[in-house]
Amino acid sequence: MKLLNKEEFEKAAGTPLFHNRDFSLYDGAPYDCVCGAKHHFSQFSGQHFASTGGSAKFMVQCLDNQNAATLIKTKNKFLIFFDRFVSLAGCME
Ligand SMILES: [Zn+2]
Repeated sequence: MKLLNKEEFEKAAGTPLFHNRDFSLYDGAPYDCVCGAKHHFSQFSGQHFASTGGSAKFMVQCLDNQNAATLIKTKNKFLIFFDRFVSLAGCME
């Protein structure tokens, strides 16, 4: 995971998406947070960003530190089945 400043982090996140999609299948899946802990994803705490190749990208706020956020991307198994989250970048202020 790359540690970025706020400006770089927002650039890395890219285009925010606001349409309603059901991401409940990712709920509870663990991801590595920039704070060093593992948290569990919740579709209500993750902001969805545009991604390519059938994966979904989210910016998630750290549960323990309001000033920390992590950019995570889904990794699929056999292209279609959700496997796990990969942490791309983190930002801590
Ligand atoms: Zn955290």
